[in-house]
Amino acid sequence: MANKYVYFFGGGKAEGNTKMKELLGGKGANLAEMSNLGIPVPPGFTITTDVCTHFMNTGGKYPTELKKEVESALAKVEKLMNLTFADPKNPLLFSVRSGARVSMPGMMETVLNIGINQKTIPGLVAKSGSERFVYDAYRRLIMMYSDVVMEKAAGIEVKEGKGIRVQLEEEMQKLKDAKGVKDDTELDVNDLKKLVGIFKKKVKQVLKKEFPDNPRDQLWGAISAVFQSWNGKRAKSYRRIEGIPDDWGTAVNVQAMVFGNMGDSSATGVAFTRDPATGENKFYGEFLVNAQGEDVVAGIRTPQAINEASKTDSSKHLPSLEKLMSANYKKLEKIRTKLEKHYKDMQDLEFTIQDGTLYMLQTRVGKRNGVAAVRMAVDMCKEGLISENVALMRVRPEQLDELLHPMLDPKAESRGHQLAKGLPAGPGGGVGQVVFTADDAEDWAKQGKKVILVRDETSPEDVHGMRAAQAILTAKGGMTSHAALVARGWGKCCIVGCGALNIDAAKKMVTVNGKTLKEGDWISLNGTSGKVYNDKIAVLPADPEKNPYYKTLMKWADKYRKLGIRTNADNPKDSKQARDFGAEGIGLTRTEHMFFGPDRITAMREMILADDEAGRRKALKKLLPFQRKDFIGIFKAMDGLPVTIRTLDPPLHEFLPNDAAAQKEMADKLGVSVAKIKAKVQSLHEMNPMLGHRGCRLGTTYPEITEMQAQAIIEAACRVAKQGVKVFPEIMIPLIGTKEELVDQREVVIRIAEKVMKQEGIKVAYLVGTMIEIPRAALTADHVAEVAEFFSFGTNDLTQMTFGYSRDDAGVFLPEYVEKGILAADPFQTLDQTGVGQLVDMGIKKGRKTRPDLKVGICGEHGGDPDSIDFCHRVGMNYVSCSPFRVPIARFAAAQAAIRNK
Ligand code: PEP
Ligand code: MG
Repeated sequence: MANKYVYFFGGGKAEGNTKMKELLGGKGANLAEMSNLGIPVPPGFTITTDVCTHFMNTGGKYPTELKKEVESALAKVEKLMNLTFADPKNPLLFSVRSGARVSMPGMMETVLNIGINQKTIPGLVAKSGSERFVYDAYRRLIMMYSDVVMEKAAGIEVKEGKGIRVQLEEEMQKLKDAKGVKDDTELDVNDLKKLVGIFKKKVKQVLKKEFPDNPRDQLWGAISAVFQSWNGKRAKSYRRIEGIPDDWGTAVNVQAMVFGNMGDSSATGVAFTRDPATGENKFYGEFLVNAQGEDVVAGIRTPQAINEASKTDSSKHLPSLEKLMSANYKKLEKIRTKLEKHYKDMQDLEFTIQDGTLYMLQTRVGKRNGVAAVRMAVDMCKEGLISENVALMRVRPEQLDELLHPMLDPKAESRGHQLAKGLPAGPGGGVGQVVFTADDAEDWAKQGKKVILVRDETSPEDVHGMRAAQAILTAKGGMTSHAALVARGWGKCCIVGCGALNIDAAKKMVTVNGKTLKEGDWISLNGTSGKVYNDKIAVLPADPEKNPYYKTLMKWADKYRKLGIRTNADNPKDSKQARDFGAEGIGLTRTEHMFFGPDRITAMREMILADDEAGRRKALKKLLPFQRKDFIGIFKAMDGLPVTIRTLDPPLHEFLPNDAAAQKEMADKLGVSVAKIKAKVQSLHEMNPMLGHRGCRLGTTYPEITEMQAQAIIEAACRVAKQGVKVFPEIMIPLIGTKEELVDQREVVIRIAEKVMKQEGIKVAYLVGTMIEIPRAALTADHVAEVAEFFSFGTNDLTQMTFGYSRDDAGVFLPEYVEKGILAADPFQTLDQTGVGQLVDMGIKKGRKTRPDLKVGICGEHGGDPDSIDFCHRVGMNYVSCSPFRVPIARFAAAQAAIRNK
């Protein structure tokens, strides 16, 4: 069969269905599905994403068959609607909308009311019975069309705030000012007629072209412009942020217009089948009487709640749809139930009521924040809608992260000076300096500043700044406004519809209830309550343990995951925190972190400065009690769980001061000359310290260091064991590249351990293993495993040495590498599975060939990264180890890995 480019839907049937998202886009596929389900959808047709690809690859050409297919689908719509496109008596109007495979809210273009011209106006007036309505629709068409088709799609570059749409809005404002009215609805038919004339003149003057009067020209102009908007600036920047491939393309949906602005028996709205902010199983939404869809999201009028349960402070005095149009509300509720049962997920709906008749314009899986995602997944599973497996896969690891996000400290908040209150669109706390434009937000954030983007409302043009900001605050807009939708999708703190803000973006200031804030002033947002404060309030870490849905989901995660989860911790407090988060042991204690305390650093420096072994031993003796005390604390916090402790790793110069003042202070403290210290610093200087005298090389040249550490570990273990603590020390030698290095260090550890246990009169079970972080160690892992009782992959160093990128200096070029697509991601964040991953896989296989029950883990940063965790599961590791706050994400990601790779 030849390619099919156009898919019809309407009248209870459709050529497509929900499974065809790649070809029809999300919107098109779901319009088809709703039609198939018998839900009232205005008829229309979808032009496929294949056409978009063709259009892009041929510099704006269409497949030859397309025109015919469009005409034939158009005729079907005419028949169903009993109207004719461009017909003077009985005219049909169309909307033209984008719709990619995944939702890209507001990032591409839409043109409504296609088909209004001089000839169709009288027919439309006769049909609708309202001349005002027709001229209002016409002025909207001119506004949208000139902006989307004649300016943006034509590639005309304009400065921010200088586009044709803004210029036309200014004309409209002038007219309103002259009349002394505030609302668009206060303009009468004569005003609108005048406005249409002014608009057309302005369009001609600015864009040097007549506004097209031929409906078919309008239609094809709109279709091309929507295809072209796939490559618009904001769509591209959104794709980069969300990782959406450029070659997917968008579909175009051409659909018969229905009007929510045909008078008081018409309305338009947006609804969610469950509350997208809390996840509660309650129908939630907003609508406006006598309005078109864009009015609801634009935030120009305050939207009304669809039902009593959705009312907020700003809508509580306005009647709900439930009260105002109860029959249609009931129909809408039935559709809600039907769609949720069908899709088995929360849906985001758009509807229009035209003169008392309800139409559904869209259904799609609704965006939700982390709190809501977790609750919905658990609730839906308990309602029997989805299985535990599906529930676990429903929540993205980043969404779970939101639950672990900071909140404003309630005590500090109660003392805060509340400036205003808006709608709580994105939960959590956000603290930062006020900026007024998206570009400023991005620039300031690049300088390391924390900013809050304050706007009247946001538009898709602002996404880069919204992304860079800690939080977003808008004066206008409801819970379904652009700012709210985008922030929710990202799990960002956000307050919208904060009407008390009087923003003067040009002067970079905002007045709020008599107070003036300037750019750079600090404010704090509580995105859960909607409160805005004129202070820099302290933030507290989140407390997910109080969330019963989170706890249930995590219980399920633990049931499905195969990987163990450990933590990287160097002190009892972090160990306890990690254990509370569900850690099952410690995968890495970096002992060097214990040497930096003010009470220890002097002894450490004394050891480094010592001229001979005797001097070093003297200083190490002073360090021993500190180390032992730390290990006792950690063993107690991890009672019953394994604790991996690594011997000293960093180059010694890291412990010495570099500046003159600190060197003098050190000299005074140790009673030596400054010259001696300077000379030592000089002698320890290395050209390439990361490849120098560090890791096991320290212990090999100064075995007394390893001896002291082994003694401290085993003494601590013996002493807590005597108190009844179950202790499982695992002593880990870093940075080995040859088996012999491990043989050397292992001998030291065993010799000391046996001696200590004899002295203490108690035996403890312990292991001696190694990190695999040098490529040669991975390549010779079968030999290494002859002596190693466990492996832990140090993928930070392994990445450094496999790529040859310095961990400390790669920041200079890595971001550009990612930007240019030379690297898919920063390999220090997400494990490079194709390269470094091969060494890991090979290391495990070779190691287990020698020692089949070899315990293998990972303790590099990748141990807390969901993609890398999936890899660790696949290559058969026993556990991953990550920082305490990432433990829940790791548990969850491990469960997803197990389900995904079943
Ligand atoms: C590693 O190299 O992956 C590792 C965990 O050790 P460090 O980061 O301390 O070098
Ligand atoms: Mg390392």
